Amino acid sequence: MGGHSRPDRQRASRPTLPRSLRCGVHQQMTVAPDTNPASQLSSEMFESPTAYAAALEAFLSTDERATPYLGYRPHSLEDSAAHLTGLQALLFDTGWSRLGWPESAGGLGGDPRFRAAMFQTLWNLDIPIPEPFTTLEILVPVLLVFAPHLSDALLPGLLRGDDKWAQAFSEPDAGSDLASLRTKMEPDGDGFRLSGQKVWSTFGHLSQRSVLLARSGGPGHKGLTMVLVDLDQPGIEVRPIRAEDGENHFSEIFLDNAWVPADRVIGTLGQGWAIAMYMLQWERGAWGWLQQGRFHQRLQQAVELGTPNPEFAQQLGHAYALAAALRLTTKQTVERLAREEQLGPEVSVDKLLLIDAELATWDAIRAYLGPRFEVDDTLQWLRHEYLFSRAAPIYGGSQEIQRTLVAQRVLGMPRD
Ligand SMILES: Cc1cc2nc3c(=O)[nH]c(=O)nc-3n(C[C@H](O)[C@H](O)[C@H](O)COP(=O)(O)OP(=O)(O)OC[C@H]3O[C@@H](n4cnc5c(N)ncnc54)[C@H](O)[C@@H]3O)c2cc1C
Repeated sequence: MGGHSRPDRQRASRPTLPRSLRCGVHQQMTVAPDTNPASQLSSEMFESPTAYAAALEAFLSTDERATPYLGYRPHSLEDSAAHLTGLQALLFDTGWSRLGWPESAGGLGGDPRFRAAMFQTLWNLDIPIPEPFTTLEILVPVLLVFAPHLSDALLPGLLRGDDKWAQAFSEPDAGSDLASLRTKMEPDGDGFRLSGQKVWSTFGHLSQRSVLLARSGGPGHKGLTMVLVDLDQPGIEVRPIRAEDGENHFSEIFLDNAWVPADRVIGTLGQGWAIAMYMLQWERGAWGWLQQGRFHQRLQQAVELGTPNPEFAQQLGHAYALAAALRLTTKQTVERLAREEQLGPEVSVDKLLLIDAELATWDAIRAYLGPRFEVDDTLQWLRHEYLFSRAAPIYGGSQEIQRTLVAQRVLGMPRD
């Protein structure tokens, strides 16, 4: 299953999708896309996020600039990152990805449902979502609330893809038990010095900056502070980690007296844990919505690719039901986030459904496609996604921890 030698499979023609995949984008457009230069787009132009999605779908289906992204299959993670940066810039420059973000972030207004509609539209058209969009969903809401002084200068470049950020929380001895992390943060003049080691930072080696959690005070979660660090500076070394699929998904980040100015503190000193908890509602809820579109898309594609075999009907149907449950649950979560509700431990349910749906989807696809899945050179991209799916029970908070959270904090089971 290794190797990356097969030719790229960008589609020559535009995909025609079954209606079942076209989630909520059928309504008539309010505004024709050709009359929508970026400077004129605003959330008020669309009756609803659904109408926005229909207009976006029309734009992506007809504008030649979008053609290279339809059905794009990457050679490698780095190729994909470079190629999809072009898509990110296109969506920003035409205004489509700026809907759903406030002006202070370089956006054009509207609530997070516009972003959710954009993700669904991209999946409906079999356009891969640029990885930075997933990071944006997690980091930008936090900056808007806890570091508005950084928004104007930094967020537009991040939304456009000129700048890429990572998340550096985990350490070799602090993953599930994040509050035990040891990276030190000590005052020095107008800022702080950071020393320690981070691990598993997604896309760290392709990022210019990272949101980082460090220990500025005593033991436990009250001693933690969140900062935004420039990675390209003396005292920081970023080493990619090659994952099972042969791709550099993650990085280790080594910090040796690295500098961070005082105005890069997110929130206040000692507020890091509370902010990380705030972040989780986006990491678990918004991420789940973003992924469910892919699961639906891939199940449908597998059925179209494979040889009909009733033996696997139950497994495919089960996976579809889990993906549908994830869609319904995370849709509600996105709507709650749009109403600016503060989510609680119940958002762990989204993450648990995501785990089950992701594992079941890829197990079903692998079983249905049979030996072809293992050896067909043109399905390398699908095998990469299968291998990544195995990480679902760990990333964003492990399965065991989420189940315990639900039992104790949703159901009220007494703790030990
Ligand atoms: C695909 C992927 C992307 C990631 N991206 C990032 C990133 O961008 N930035 C970042 O900072 N981190 C990232 N991580 C790291 C991730 O947050 C950690 O892997 C996760 O928090 C688990 O920590 P750990 O790996 O140290 O495992 P551990 O915490 O050591 O857990 C190992 C096993 O023990 C179980 N376990 C641990 N404690 C308990 C307990 N109290 N009760 C029951 N079971 C327990 C866990 O459930 C797990 O099965 C990523 C991980 C993955 C897989």
